[in-house]
Amino acid sequence: MREFKLFINGEFCDAAGGETYESIHPGTGEVVASVAKGGAEDVARACAAAQAAFDGEWGALSSAERAGILGTVACMIERDAEELAELEMLDVGKPINEATNIDVPVAANYLRWYSQMTNAPMGETIPLPNPANIDYSLWQPYGVCGGIVPWNFPLFLAVLKIGGALATGNCMVIKPAGITPMTTLKLAELFAEANLPEGALNVITGPGATVGEALVTDPRVRMVSFTGSTATGRRILELATRNITDVSIELGGKSPNIIFADADFDQAVAGAVFGILLNNGQNCIAGSRLLVEESIYEDVVDAVASKLASLRIGQPADESTQLGAIVSREQFGKIMGYIEQGKAEGARLVHGSKAPEGEQFAGGFFIEPTLFADVSNQMTIAREEIFGPVLVAIPFADEAEALRIANDTPYGLGSGVFTTNADRIERMVRGLQSGTVYVNTYNQVYPQSPFPGWKQSGNGAERGLQGLYAYVRYKNVIQEVSGAPIGWFGA
Ligand code: NAD
Repeated sequence: MREFKLFINGEFCDAAGGETYESIHPGTGEVVASVAKGGAEDVARACAAAQAAFDGEWGALSSAERAGILGTVACMIERDAEELAELEMLDVGKPINEATNIDVPVAANYLRWYSQMTNAPMGETIPLPNPANIDYSLWQPYGVCGGIVPWNFPLFLAVLKIGGALATGNCMVIKPAGITPMTTLKLAELFAEANLPEGALNVITGPGATVGEALVTDPRVRMVSFTGSTATGRRILELATRNITDVSIELGGKSPNIIFADADFDQAVAGAVFGILLNNGQNCIAGSRLLVEESIYEDVVDAVASKLASLRIGQPADESTQLGAIVSREQFGKIMGYIEQGKAEGARLVHGSKAPEGEQFAGGFFIEPTLFADVSNQMTIAREEIFGPVLVAIPFADEAEALRIANDTPYGLGSGVFTTNADRIERMVRGLQSGTVYVNTYNQVYPQSPFPGWKQSGNGAERGLQGLYAYVRYKNVIQEVSGAPIGWFGA
């Protein structure tokens, strides 16, 4: 069985309390690893190591040297792609094909971009009315940043946080989700191999309530980048008030994916299916509310249902599997609860809803891709983030109604619009209240593209230059350039 330890000050070590826990493969329910169960003492040691690295060797590196390390690790991710994909598949239960073709190459691509961003131009000069003074800004690293990551894209999201922090000169203490620690620890191994100075990156595994809270409240941590649920995001914001810690939070969503009658039909149906089913619906920006114009509503519902029926659900390790397992028994139960609630609230079940039967599914956590039609936007399944392979279809009469339903949600992470009408694209893009709008596509990610959360989906942005700015603090400088002393009211 694999063994995973904490990574503190450049070394893999046991938790101070000596405890471990088991990591389970969602495809079979079998234990695949023993993981160190960190606690507050380990977090404190990691924060001290990070502060020492920032004040010492890491802080003294040039941006070119930092770029070299990040770029080297990007190459190592590609070198060790097979192992990383296997670990991600074992931890999350996602199909090996998806881990190999999406998670791992995307992680390498993002880290390479962060290596280029070590030299991103940051700062400005501000014209002043007094020619004796000049005003300019410095954007400087915080020192120690905390990173807290959810379980749905563990490798990719760890790279976002580590890449952002290290590119801008910070050190990081990162906490992966308890159930998906393996690729973050493998990443730490790669950074050590790339000669990252000790302490610049530390990984503490363990429960959110102890490790996460200790991290957010450690006085050395001046900035926390959190990705996870809105409920935990609220708690992080509360905790951050203790030391007035800066926080960047990326939270959940209930994103509308809107199909107009003038859309390219095949493109829209493919967008609806990929929009909900990437990572088995366990995707913050999943297009989980399918809004369809009345005149093509039944045709779209039928076409989506037949696509869902054609997908191969199976063991994550199987190369031909398109839909793998749900990450945990707990998440499986939560999704099934929502499916039952959808039925009870009167939605029309069109496809799925059950755990598939057969020997290959024994012990694992699998759910058929599920489609509900005739859903009202007030039903629980249209309001709450299910975070699973459950799509709800809602008809609309016209553009104004589509926009009203789309924006009638506490969330504001993403939206999709499928139409061939250029004027409509312009109106919809302006009117949709979300940080990302996809037009005639869905679920595309690029390191250059910022990913902001509106409303209860977060503050600020991750990725892109806007995401990088979250890791630096602004300093304004006013400098006297005339050589004269300050005048004192005409004296
Ligand atoms: P979660 O909020 O339960 O956990 C996220 C992380 O926070 C985990 O590492 C967890 O251990 C930690 N945590 C839990 N309680 C904590 C506490 N009291 N203090 C500090 N840390 C704590 O979320 P999850 O179930 O792991 O992930 C799913 C959620 O993440 C969904 O809501 C999804 O939409 C969201 N998500 C958002 C984005 C985005 O970019 N907006 C991306 C991926 C996932």
